[in-house]
Amino acid sequence: MEGFRTTLINCRECNRRILVRAADAERGTIICSHIGCGALNTLQAGFYYDETIVQGLPGFGHLTYLDKPEKTYLLQFGSNILGTSDSCTIQIDRFMHNDRCFISRRHCTITVTFDKWIGQLRYQLQDGFIDSSTQQQQSSLNGTLLNGVLLQKNELIDVSIDGIISLGGADRFQLTHYCINPEMLNTYKIELAFNPDRTQ
Ligand SMILES: [Zn+2]
Repeated sequence: MEGFRTTLINCRECNRRILVRAADAERGTIICSHIGCGALNTLQAGFYYDETIVQGLPGFGHLTYLDKPEKTYLLQFGSNILGTSDSCTIQIDRFMHNDRCFISRRHCTITVTFDKWIGQLRYQLQDGFIDSSTQQQQSSLNGTLLNGVLLQKNELIDVSIDGIISLGGADRFQLTHYCINPEMLNTYKIELAFNPDRTQ
């Protein structure tokens, strides 16, 4: 481990100081040498990604209507209510099947957040929407399916990359995640706790 200089950490068990040498750092662990302790301390670097990265992203993913792939809907960061109502974050067309539309006015909600530990956007789906006045979930009439499985009331499910969301069973949409460029991500990395690479 080039450039490593011995350093001190506090034992996680007894909180007394332990001297860390390069060999300990390479191994990734150190056993506390204080009498009566002997706790195993891990030295692996913890890190996360600064959430302000989302302010610089050009997009947050989109949905593609599978019956007409030229039809796409852009997602925004935070809560996206999908439905045929013009009050929705994403207004979906009233797709007709034998003169019937199976999509509710406010059909489902996709919440886009940033997972600071993984450094990627997270997409969570639930049926219906949360009524802001009552804080109660209002279900859709015909249900929401993820990859063919009907969501239960109050269920909040992560949508995998290219997951298929069906609104009411007749209309399917593929969710394309926005993947953050690794080089950009690296510039938002924040190191936590002990990291031997920083000990010059
Ligand atoms: Zn100790």
